[in-house]
Amino acid sequence: MTPGNRQAQLVAKIDVLKQELLTLGDLRPGTLSEQYNVCGKAGCGCKADPPRKHGPYYQVSFTWQGRSHTQFVRQENVATTRQQLRNYERLRTLVEAWIAAGLELAALRFGTAPVGPRGRRGGARRAAPRAKSQ
Ligand SMILES: [Zn+2]
Repeated sequence: MTPGNRQAQLVAKIDVLKQELLTLGDLRPGTLSEQYNVCGKAGCGCKADPPRKHGPYYQVSFTWQGRSHTQFVRQENVATTRQQLRNYERLRTLVEAWIAAGLELAALRFGTAPVGPRGRRGGARRAAPRAKSQ
């Protein structure tokens, strides 16, 4: 494939990504979790054997602008919330794909070195241990 063909291919790919971005509905970042609680009331079923804990309660946890947040979600909003979270993940996937195509396109247009996959080129920048769990 000639560099010109590859450029045209990347431009077309970015165009497809833009079109899909337009179709995204409501979105929000985060992870949905389900919780069951035990209360302090004496004789409550949540401490029976087997326990019938209170819940489920739903919450979305996310980090935004460097700060972590937790928001409670009503049961009736759980399905919609799941869709919002999926839309957000799709947004990130599309944006990452656009960035990757943009980097490759810029390198082709300027005749500069392409950016390698993570861990190959520029590895020193990410030399910190990856022990951090999510
Ligand atoms: Zn209880």
